Amino acid sequence: MSAEELIKRYEAGGGRLAAASAEGLAVPPSLHTAIVTCMDSRIDVFALFGMNIGETHVLRNAGGVVTDDVVRSLTISQRKLGTRDVLLVQHNGCGLATFTDDEFCEELAAETGMRPSWRTHAFRDPAQSVRRDVTQLRHDPFLHPDTRVRGFVLDIHAGVLEEVIVD
Ligand SMILES: [Zn+2]
Repeated sequence: MSAEELIKRYEAGGGRLAAASAEGLAVPPSLHTAIVTCMDSRIDVFALFGMNIGETHVLRNAGGVVTDDVVRSLTISQRKLGTRDVLLVQHNGCGLATFTDDEFCEELAAETGMRPSWRTHAFRDPAQSVRRDVTQLRHDPFLHPDTRVRGFVLDIHAGVLEEVIVD
């Protein structure tokens, strides 16, 4: 029912609007930057950074955490489409801070009889999670040696980014 609402909006002209936004843009992001952030529906990453279509790659998942697939996308983003800088943005009040990895997997196992092969990357403290993920990216062997990674915790309600300094 809700997805149908979106299809209706597309049919009402969304496709034409999207095509107009993309017109004349090159495939490589013009600001040579990739942003990793949470899928939280309240985060307007374009508004937050005053961004336009065509300027960055935006990778979103539950938590905005560094998974194997984020590394896959960042590596392609850098090696094939020329990005260098990475901004990692996690946030206060994230759904990933409401359970532990073990709890989530126990619930899944109880309901389905199976355990997932992946981890949830649940965290209590977003700053600590950002620190861990920035460190992981800085040591990733596949990212470009000139990669600059900066990590932030976003206060969604205040629209304030707090940088997490990682030595
Ligand atoms: Zn979140």
